[in-house]
Amino acid sequence: MAQIGFIGLGIMGKPMARNLLKAGYSLVVYDLRQSPLTELQEAGATPATSCRDAAAQSDTIITMLPDGPDVEIAILGPDGVLAGARKGSLIVDMSSISPNVSQEIASACAKRSVDFLDAPVSGGEPKAIEGTLVIMAGGDAAAFEKARPILEKMGSTVTLTGPVGAGNTTKLANQIMVACNIAAMGEALVLATRAGLDPEVVFNAVKGGLAGSTVLNVKAPMLIARNFRPGFRIELHQKDLRNALLAAESLKVSLPLTSLVQQMLMALMNEGKGQLDHSAIAQFIERMAGIEVKKELAAAA
Ligand code: NAD
Repeated sequence: MAQIGFIGLGIMGKPMARNLLKAGYSLVVYDLRQSPLTELQEAGATPATSCRDAAAQSDTIITMLPDGPDVEIAILGPDGVLAGARKGSLIVDMSSISPNVSQEIASACAKRSVDFLDAPVSGGEPKAIEGTLVIMAGGDAAAFEKARPILEKMGSTVTLTGPVGAGNTTKLANQIMVACNIAAMGEALVLATRAGLDPEVVFNAVKGGLAGSTVLNVKAPMLIARNFRPGFRIELHQKDLRNALLAAESLKVSLPLTSLVQQMLMALMNEGKGQLDHSAIAQFIERMAGIEVKKELAAAA
């Protein structure tokens, strides 16, 4: 079995690493923070002292970091993965970053005879814990086949979507649909609540019809219960839509809905809500209406 280095033990990376340990892989782990390193060590992983150190002890190195600049530091930096990786090893970056950055990192890897895949995920913390993530990979077929058994321990749907960068382009498409869906849900439930309806009754009435979606099923109950514990943070979704708009600019396509929701996310961050779950996109619409989507309010209306 491959020796795996796992870098980035946050909301997503920690449960993903745990699933690899459960599947019997030997894991070397690294994070800038000590607490998840200690937790993973207690679960049987070996802590490394740097990204370079983790790579030097591994055949396959997985990174799960916030954004492109973090991945560049972790892989290309002086104490990064490439400084320690052996020839013929494989780096799988599972972070959601700009496809252009994935391509730049892949060419730096190719110069050192190291394979690279971008393989971002969808599904959030619950699916990371269950090992049922949706994984969208980009890279060459041979590298993908090498990674597939490992990816299948973390995800239930694992797809090669095209060359390096295709995984992150697919993820951007996913993030556009999720963000616009949450914003639409917010508008719909603000309207229903202002009309004096119970938002839970409205949600239950429509969820089996054409408006039903995984986003609605997961995020509407959070909104109605005023539970904005992340999950997926506002600041990370802002980053994804910014990356989508940058990609759109370079491809010369207009994404009007994406830019609108990206501006909502930016405003929420400026209000100090960047750490809330992205279901709080609805708070932007609530504020414009001067109303909150919750059961008590509807009952009193
Ligand atoms: P997070 O902020 O919880 O975790 C990131 C971890 O990376 C932190 O523990 C941080 O200390 C560590 N880190 C940052 N820079 C580092 C470096 N140079 N070296 C070592 N460790 C470093 O983020 P997350 O929610 O786990 O998300 C990770 C990625 O997955 C992001 O790109 C995000 O967009 C994507 N994603 C998140 C979710 C979700 O629901 N949270 C869902 C799908 C995809």
